[in-house]
Amino acid sequence: MPQEPKKRHSRARQGKRRAAIKLTVRETVLCSNCQTPVLPHTICRNCGFYKGKEVINMAKKKKPGEEKSASGGTENTA
Ligand SMILES: [Zn+2]
Repeated sequence: MPQEPKKRHSRARQGKRRAAIKLTVRETVLCSNCQTPVLPHTICRNCGFYKGKEVINMAKKKKPGEEKSASGGTENTA
């Protein structure tokens, strides 16, 4: 038999709980190569650089039709 709440919560308490439910804006850092805002500790989606090195060749990757097959496990998405 499933457990049931003993007493109902007041509307104020319900409102306090729901006030905490919100989306947060992710913190970003500027890419060292192209100055685009990117998520920290991730490869830049614009130029494919991470820590000053080119990790993904974006010019090679942008060919049409390759997007589905080219996405390997090399991307560092946290
Ligand atoms: Zn970049």
